Amino acid sequence: MSSECASDTEGTPSLDRVFRIEFEVDWPPGHAVAWLVDGPEPVLVDAGAPGEAATETLTDALDAHGYGLADIEHLVVTHPHSDHVGQVPTLLEAGARLYAPGPALKQLRRDPDDLEAAVRRTAREAGLGDDRVDRAVEQAVDSLERDWRLLPPDEVDVAFDFGEPFDAGGHIFTPLYTPGHQKTHASFLAELGGTALFPGDALIEPFRAAAIHAGIDRGAYRAIDAFYDAMDRFEAVEADRAFPGHGPAFDDIGGAVDSTRESLDSLVEDTAEALRAVGPTSPVEVSDERAGPAEHPATLLDTFGSLGSLEAADRAECRLVDGVRQYELIE
Ligand SMILES: [Zn+2]
Repeated sequence: MSSECASDTEGTPSLDRVFRIEFEVDWPPGHAVAWLVDGPEPVLVDAGAPGEAATETLTDALDAHGYGLADIEHLVVTHPHSDHVGQVPTLLEAGARLYAPGPALKQLRRDPDDLEAAVRRTAREAGLGDDRVDRAVEQAVDSLERDWRLLPPDEVDVAFDFGEPFDAGGHIFTPLYTPGHQKTHASFLAELGGTALFPGDALIEPFRAAAIHAGIDRGAYRAIDAFYDAMDRFEAVEADRAFPGHGPAFDDIGGAVDSTRESLDSLVEDTAEALRAVGPTSPVEVSDERAGPAEHPATLLDTFGSLGSLEAADRAECRLVDGVRQYELIE
């Protein structure tokens, strides 16, 4: 009679030993997810929301798997948004080794004066009024400062480049460049007894994250085409299960790519429709026509990215009139 010894399988990676940790956040969909890759050297992919309540969420979740904060030796992050890097400082303090996209750190080290000038210009060109231009600049500077606090670039141990695999906790992580939601966003492939994909916010079921990409900044009009590029990259790889930054894990990766592309397609078509109705006009007017006055910059950014996509496809043209972009549909 033979039976398997527990010690024989202890170190064997398995897709079933990737555990979901859900953090509460104030904006849709109301939560963000980090993933614990269990094993001899546990790895955490992303670090949830900031704040004390989230620290407690993390501590409790790790405790449920028999770990304390100090047991997380490796922390791998997808992108510098606060709901994904919130507990980086907590884990650094507990001794984690931190892996982050090199290009994200370059962004964090950007000169605040350059950021301010680029945001001011982008906001003005979009047709925002003076108050909203000032607010956009203030928000951009605030979030640079916050991101710097949450993901201190000087404390990153491994600043990886896209396409260059690295070892974290005995697993090889291959970072893919998957922009659109965020300009320096990494997704990861890792062999964990099956191929795991950690797509962060670039591929989620059953919805699409906003095309925030660069924010109201240089590159805003590239957001949608960048998002499509990310879908092409996901389509080119084979993975068995995806562990995203929001929502549940899912196996039908091709299906998620299709539905994300459909969502981008209909966003672009809705934008073309709005432009047909009110153009030639500014990006802000098009956005208001498409989605109503924007309460959140994400709505504006979806529109800016769509206008950029229409222009790149020669379906719209753009002229600068008195410093404001004027888009017109080519029919
Ligand atoms: Zn995000």
